[in-house]
Amino acid sequence: MKTDASYEETVEFHGHSCPGLAVGYRVARVAVRELLVERSVDEELVAVVENDACGVDAVQYLCGCTFGKGNLRFLDHGKPVYTFFRRTDGQGVRIYAEPFHYEDADDARFVELVTKPVLTLEEQDERAQITARRVQRILTHPEDKFIKLSSPQIAMPSPARIFSSENCADCGERIMSTRVQQKETGRALCIPCAEKT
Ligand SMILES: [Zn+2]
Ligand SMILES: [Zn+2]
Repeated sequence: MKTDASYEETVEFHGHSCPGLAVGYRVARVAVRELLVERSVDEELVAVVENDACGVDAVQYLCGCTFGKGNLRFLDHGKPVYTFFRRTDGQGVRIYAEPFHYEDADDARFVELVTKPVLTLEEQDERAQITARRVQRILTHPEDKFIKLSSPQIAMPSPARIFSSENCADCGERIMSTRVQQKETGRALCIPCAEKT
């Protein structure tokens, strides 16, 4: 967990600087402040994210929440909502981050540039400048103007569990038991094989 990572370090982890990452960075800093301040850094956070865009990388990097550890859950709601829990006592916070930069003066031009299949060098430069302006605005925007904190609306997910597994009747590969598809024929199939039939 790199709870005090700079934005630049977070960019290194993500691979590029972008508005989505900047929003995620602000969100992750709030989560750390709300749930980890003056606590041991070994404390585990659990995050439930309602989108799978760039910002989630900041949550992974600063808060140490990853799929592999089972403390990152994804709900496909397409919303800028992030709910965090402190594993030891279940204390949590729901964070809504309004994407205010969508309405700025650069927006129409930005959408034009990112949807163009090929950009000239000048256009690439222009896009980079808009991105940099937006990132700067997001990183310095007053928190109370775009971030809303409230109580979690969901329960804290339970820790990663070990599931039993069985073999697919078609491809023979192992499947986690919770993902086995039971066909009317009584054959146990993996999801890709079940979709083929
Ligand atoms: Zn990005
Ligand atoms: Zn299969």
